[in-house]
Amino acid sequence: MPDPTLTRKILDAVDAGFDEQIRFTTDLVRQPSLRGQEAPAQDMMASALRERGLAVDHWKIEVDDIRHLPGFSPVAVSYDNAFNVVGTHRPAGGGGRSLILNGHIDVVPTGPLDMWTDPPFAPKVHDGWLYGRGAGDMKAGLVGNLFALDALKRIGVAPAGEVYLQSVVEEECTGNGALACLQRGYRGDAALIPEPFGETLMSAQVGVIWFQVKLRGRPAHVMAAGSGSNAIEACFPLIAALHELEHAWNERGHPAFADHAHPINFVVAKIQGGDWTSSVPAWCTFDMRIGLFPGMDLDAVRDEVESAISAAAAKDPFLASNPPELVYHGFLAEGWVLPEGTDAQRVLAQCHEAVTGQPLQPFASSGTTDARFFGLYADTPALVYGPRAEFIHAFDERVELESVRRVTQATALFIADWCGIEKIK
Ligand code: ZN
Repeated sequence: MPDPTLTRKILDAVDAGFDEQIRFTTDLVRQPSLRGQEAPAQDMMASALRERGLAVDHWKIEVDDIRHLPGFSPVAVSYDNAFNVVGTHRPAGGGGRSLILNGHIDVVPTGPLDMWTDPPFAPKVHDGWLYGRGAGDMKAGLVGNLFALDALKRIGVAPAGEVYLQSVVEEECTGNGALACLQRGYRGDAALIPEPFGETLMSAQVGVIWFQVKLRGRPAHVMAAGSGSNAIEACFPLIAALHELEHAWNERGHPAFADHAHPINFVVAKIQGGDWTSSVPAWCTFDMRIGLFPGMDLDAVRDEVESAISAAAAKDPFLASNPPELVYHGFLAEGWVLPEGTDAQRVLAQCHEAVTGQPLQPFASSGTTDARFFGLYADTPALVYGPRAEFIHAFDERVELESVRRVTQATALFIADWCGIEKIK
């Protein structure tokens, strides 16, 4: 830990920039950086990094550069607008440890706008919370990384090791943005990712797979419904079979999720089918998001899922001769457990305690984050630690501003301690 005087100076320096930090976060939330539309928000990040004198790398992700790498997830959309941004701080003297500060710019769809109290991309502050799609997940954290660095500069010091500030796309669907940073050669002695997990340290995360199941039936008039094959109703036994698998995996359990009531979630997240109310539906496609435990092999999981679907389909006379088609169109993400007892974890716990007066609590996540890339494929301790947010991926998403302040303070202390500091000349 920095000495108490320096600690106090760093905390005050975050306070001094906090109004500006909230303004910048609000401006960034105003950018609807939905998948495929992240480019203007990434331009904002690139300018902000450049203004601060960091060396900026702003590049378009090429699928061919990454498709051969472990951790790659299949892509079903165009990457014409998929740009990553990394700002690099290089120390003058050096000798300190390096650090990656990572966050994602992409946000998930809003859902029906009439279910929001205020429009999702018209952010506003109310009662100590910032509202808007992406406010919590995770623009507040992403901007907090930037302002933590600013706080050090404000008191005339800079990190004594390289700091890479990464703003990546594709976290919510594949993770290919973080993977592209690895492919481009970015490595650090530790990584910090301020996902909105309520000032806890993520101890483990499940893996996630996305797939679509496509059914095609023989269309018929509803008067002869018995002779047709109803593609929508044919989905039900397949979904039931998948939920049986979900139940079996939760029963099997995993030590890192011992305190978690239901870590594995299989979600039918989208469904489309049919053309006309008086025609038996000829087709149906449903999208599944499934969780899996750390250590479960992706190929084995896919075999298990495909066998469950085939077995259920075999019991249906129509599906038996028209087997459903499975398409993987997003996450093929392994689970991951944060190794215990790393120095990075110890330092962060001290910084958290210096700010909050409370011990840092672990949190096992039933979702995935980009931490897996650092942990599994780059042997880098990845600390997921961010502010308190509510209703992420839902309506009226919001992030608590005092929590953002504390996390930014803990981050600034962490940078100073982990990398060491040098005086700016
Ligand atoms: Zn997130």
